[in-house]
Amino acid sequence: MDEQLLEIIHIMDLRYRWSAGPHLGEFLRGLKAGKILANRCPRCGRHQLPPTPVCGRCHVAMGTDWVELSPRGTVISFSHVVDPMYDAGIGGMRPVPYTLASIVLDGASDVAFFHRLEESTAQRVRQGMRVEAVFRPPSEREGTMEDILHFRAIEENEKRGGSP
Ligand SMILES: [Zn+2]
Repeated sequence: MDEQLLEIIHIMDLRYRWSAGPHLGEFLRGLKAGKILANRCPRCGRHQLPPTPVCGRCHVAMGTDWVELSPRGTVISFSHVVDPMYDAGIGGMRPVPYTLASIVLDGASDVAFFHRLEESTAQRVRQGMRVEAVFRPPSEREGTMEDILHFRAIEENEKRGGSP
């Protein structure tokens, strides 16, 4: 005998906060100050970005060996996003289209950083393109990934790893 199941539809509005912890917390404080901070494994020396409490390779506890990385780097891959999807970073649907890039920051060739590209940069993006982070003005920063507006292209003939 087929029995029809009863259902109750209940839409829940769940709002919550959680601690970022000491490692991610330091990273977020760094963003608010206009810095991109990584930590480094005491055994293998590999950077973790965003910082983590344990090395993903050695599984040893990461110390407090903080490294301020350059805001400049090189695009190694990218995706043009056209389908809207939920973004926990903004707590809602991120408007499309946008371009997400994997960027190796100068001084940390062992780890990639993921962020959006400025629209005009996205239109001509290619692997190997040199880019730099554009931070919001200090008064608008909140200690989130959104403190970086996007990455924009920098002159191709600029010396790699040069000062801003
Ligand atoms: Zn390690």
